Amino acid sequence: MNRQVESKGNSNEAGRTIGIAIEEPEIVHRTKIRWTEFTWNPMSGCEAVSPGCASCYARTLAERFRGTAAFPNGFDLTIRPHKLVEPLKLREPSLIFVNSTSDFFLDAVDDTYRDQIIDVIESTPQHQYQVLTKRHESMLRYSRRRRLPANFWAGVTAEDQARADLRIPCVLQVDVPVRFVSVEPALSMVDISRLVNGRNSAVGGDGLQWLIWGGESGLHLKDEKVRAVRGCAVRDERGKWSPHPERMDWPRTLRDVCAANGIPFFFKQWGGARPTSAGHELDGRKWEEIPDVQAKAMQEAVGRVERATSPSGGWGASPR
Ligand code: SF4
Repeated sequence: MNRQVESKGNSNEAGRTIGIAIEEPEIVHRTKIRWTEFTWNPMSGCEAVSPGCASCYARTLAERFRGTAAFPNGFDLTIRPHKLVEPLKLREPSLIFVNSTSDFFLDAVDDTYRDQIIDVIESTPQHQYQVLTKRHESMLRYSRRRRLPANFWAGVTAEDQARADLRIPCVLQVDVPVRFVSVEPALSMVDISRLVNGRNSAVGGDGLQWLIWGGESGLHLKDEKVRAVRGCAVRDERGKWSPHPERMDWPRTLRDVCAANGIPFFFKQWGGARPTSAGHELDGRKWEEIPDVQAKAMQEAVGRVERATSPSGGWGASPR
């Protein structure tokens, strides 16, 4: 993979001439991704690592616009340091998905650059940052090298059972208040019950705090042969999409495990040619739960006040 640094000038660290991004928007993007509000891409570009990457929308997008201001290097790894300041400009407390067009824990990215991103996250505690990776070991390694801030949500993709078995035990070891799993694109039934059973799923607990489920989407699913082996939506002869009748238990099972373990469950979509093709409802309703970090923050504030006013210690205690 090429590692390239995007700049407003004409050359990168190595002195090679690269694309100039003068037309690229300079603020985090409002996004249609239904479980977040904004995307922030201090880098772009990636490499496939597991079956869920086969229909990577970021690669399709980046290669389609290769050579333009938005993606001068297509899907080759591109470091974008000028974008580091973007969250500082966003005043409203917001949910921000970091690296929707890359993977934060790519081995080809130096930890020193990851540190700069974490510095920004740390200095903007009003925002919550959602970081979703398929490089679970790299995430765990980094989290042991540098303590992750409380507003860093650590997530892994578990598109099938093999990836769930590998990645979920890893994310459960990352010390942050919110750990999450995204089962998208869902490629099989995924059972997480034995992975999370008995763990505390509350924000700040030691279990899983969120699960997102999404069926695959993309124009490749218009092909009936592709739909026979992938995707959770079917298409009739008039072109109308609906949930795949034999795969409806995939999200149901996870929803029920989440309910039994107190884990917020977000049903994103059935998928199809477009994310909206077969709708966003499971058993007649939407499921759009997210971790209640605000409630947790309030609990902690109450705890601080109680400690401060307690006669036995805290801020109000007599000097010893
Ligand atoms: S890890 Fe994510 S961004 Fe990278 S190729 Fe796979 S799906 Fe695309």
